[in-house]
Amino acid sequence: MAERSLRGRSIGAKSLESDEGVSLAERKEVVYVCPKGHRTIVPFASQATVPATWFCHCGLTCVQEDHQGDPLDGGKPKRSHYDMLLERRTEDELKKLLAERIRKHEEGELSDYE
Ligand SMILES: [Zn+2]
Repeated sequence: MAERSLRGRSIGAKSLESDEGVSLAERKEVVYVCPKGHRTIVPFASQATVPATWFCHCGLTCVQEDHQGDPLDGGKPKRSHYDMLLERRTEDELKKLLAERIRKHEEGELSDYE
């Protein structure tokens, strides 16, 4: 009976199943903001544990937009030392500085413990 009902159906045939009664998993969107102000919206399943931080396309760490911050740090989003460095200097400037420091070390201008 079941075999007979499949006869004549091609491989690419459309599913006879309808979308009726299908419900997508509940979602929530969480907005993250990086120190440069870029906003990233990430969809999560409603039951998912949402991470406190995310990674921005610019390479910095973002925090949740509605994140009030740790009361001990004055409500400011946590930034790594590298995040702060990138706010003050471009990567090109950092490359030049590093090259200069390496040159000075190699020429003995700087001690290893400066
Ligand atoms: Zn960013």
